[in-house]
Parts: sequence; C-alpha cells; structure tokens
Amino acid sequence: MQERYVDCLILGAGPAGLSAALYAKRSGLNCALVDKSAPGGTPSNYTEIENYLGFSKIQGCELCDKFEQHIDEFKIQKYPFEEIQNIDLISDTKTVETLENKFFAKSVIIAMGAQNKKLGIKGEEENIGKGVSYCAVCDGAFYKDKIVAVIGGGNSALEEAMYLTKFAKTVYLIHRRESFRADKIIQQRLKQNDKIKIITNSVPVEIMAATRVEGLKIQNTVNDEIQTIELDGVFPYIGLKPNTEMFVHQLKLDKYGFIETSCNMETNIKGVYAAGDIRNTPLRQVITAVSDGAVAAIEASKYLETINDGGKKAYESVSI
Ligand code: NAP
Repeated sequence: MQERYVDCLILGAGPAGLSAALYAKRSGLNCALVDKSAPGGTPSNYTEIENYLGFSKIQGCELCDKFEQHIDEFKIQKYPFEEIQNIDLISDTKTVETLENKFFAKSVIIAMGAQNKKLGIKGEEENIGKGVSYCAVCDGAFYKDKIVAVIGGGNSALEEAMYLTKFAKTVYLIHRRESFRADKIIQQRLKQNDKIKIITNSVPVEIMAATRVEGLKIQNTVNDEIQTIELDGVFPYIGLKPNTEMFVHQLKLDKYGFIETSCNMETNIKGVYAAGDIRNTPLRQVITAVSDGAVAAIEASKYLETINDGGKKAYESVSI
C-alpha cells in the first residue's frame, strides 16, 4: 500500500468533487480525488440536462466528460475505482485507506453523492438485471417495443419515463399520490407524450417474474384494490439515499442520513466538509453540487491557512 500525503483529499468525483478539486488546486492546495467508480458521478447516467447554465441541452455523460477534461488540465491526482476501506476523520491528520493507497490529509471534502432508493418489495432485488433497472440510459435500449413501468413522481421518474418512450411501446408511470413533485415544465411535457400511461394513487407491491420480469402488482392507495400489469421492465425512481453509511459514527447526519453542514459546507468536524447530494441541501442539481464543491474547497483552503501558522507548512505540492 502506497502512503500519500495531501492538503485536501476529495472523496467522490461527481460534479461536487470535480469542482472542489478545481478550486482546491487553483488555491494552491495539493489535492487528490478518490472515487470507487470512474469520474462523473450520477449525472453521467442522466439522459439530458437542460438546466445547467450555458448549455441549453447536453447529455449527462457529455457534461461530466467536460468537467473531467477541465480538471485534467490542472493535473489533479485522480484515484478512480478505489473503494474506501477505513476512514478516520476525527484526528487532526485525517486518514483514508483504500486497498491500494493510504491517504494522510489535512482536510477532507466529502462529495460521495447518493444512490437510488429501492422499493423494498418482493421480486425487486432478485430481478435486478432481469427486468429491474435503476438506469434508463444504461438499459432503455433493451426494451424496444416492450412495456415498462417507471415508479415515482419526481423529476427523475418523469424525465426517465419520457426517455424510455424512445424504445418502449408503452411506459406506465406509477405514482403514489395524485399530484407530482416534478418541475411543472416536465409535467407538461409528460402529458403530451401519448406513449405514457399515468397511474396515480398507486404503489407497487410485488414484481412478478419466472426467469425475468413479467408483471407488476400495484395497489390503489384510495380503495386498496390490487391490479396486475403485464410488463417487461420496472424502473424505480423514488428518490435518493445518501452514501453516508461509513460516516454514521463520525459525522452529524440529519434524520434522512444526509450530512449536516453549515452554508460554508462545514461539518461538525473541523477540516471536514461535505458538498453536493450527500449533504442536507434544499436542492440537488448539478449546478448546486458544482457550487457546493467550490465553496467547500475555498473553505478548506482558508482552514489550512489557520493550521499552517506557527511553522507548520502545508504538504508540498507534487507534480505528476
Ligand atoms: P424525489 O424528487 O425525491 O422524488 C421521489 C419520488 O418518489 C416522489 O414523487 C415520491 O413520492 C416517490 N416515492 C418515494 N418513496 C416511494 C416509495 N417507497 N414508493 C413509491 N413512491 C415513492 O427524487 P428524484 O426524482 O430522484 O430526484 C432527486 C433530486 O434530484 C431532486 O432534488 C430532483 O429535483 C433532482 N433531479 C433533477 C433533475 C433535473 O433538474 N433535470 C433530474 C433528476 C433529478 P411523493 O412525491 O409522494 O413524496
């Protein structure tokens, strides 16, 4: 295992982490990015983004590629495909271990995002990859002329339902209430799409499958009636679960498990910041994640100036 010393270690290479890396590096910090996957984060899987200022329409993966190319111009150290095994944020020098590296960091920015929540119903877990999918962009093409259902009433559910109509002949959108929480403009577009059949006041209770998904049982929340829909695929988009399990004993989390931060992205531990979807933010968008990352890096830089007083120098910047 290689020992690596940095001023600022950034955990997560989605929009928040990439932006934090750019601002940290430009503030003169020796920083490194660690991610269990390739850089890009969740938006890499978004079909199309049309609310990132400056791009009226851009594919999620294209925008993320642009982010990565930008930070590559600054020769920022990247450690993709490294899963965190151990983490100590409490000590003055923070340590983060992966299988390959042990990082010693004076400050840490946590930008590890959130993942899709599961429905938790019979037939879900065992049919992932056999008709249950959490990524329409990755799997949509497998459903050409088939019937699928999307579950949820937020932006993700509505946008991905519309995306799936490029392939599927029918897309059921199943939502547990009468009204949707998705942006109004997306709701209007949805209603104009005649391949989408909206079923409200209904929740999925079982995904039926022999060798792969064949049907979905849903229950009406008003009259409790159960109905079975024959279909080939189910795409749950019912919100996000923050990737905070490894922090429960070290960081203050809110009741949903998101990291509590100040408006300067500070956590309850000095020198530790959180940015993007993983924190208790009122808005989870690419643009807010990018903004959080910038604030966190500048705050980390200010913090390092305070601890570098009294002859303690920041770690030397390394050129790679
Ligand atoms: P979300 O906004 O939290 O919506 C989750 C939806 O799933 C809600 O409609 C919720 O119903 C429903 N739901 C939750 N638990 C359920 C369950 N157990 N069974 C059935 N339905 C359930 O999540 P999201 O759509 O994934 O979006 C997450 C964040 O990313 C949001 O801030 C969103 O704005 C953002 N986002 C933005 C864009 C964009 O701007 N282009 C695209 C995607 C996502 P209720 O409404 O009844 O609570």
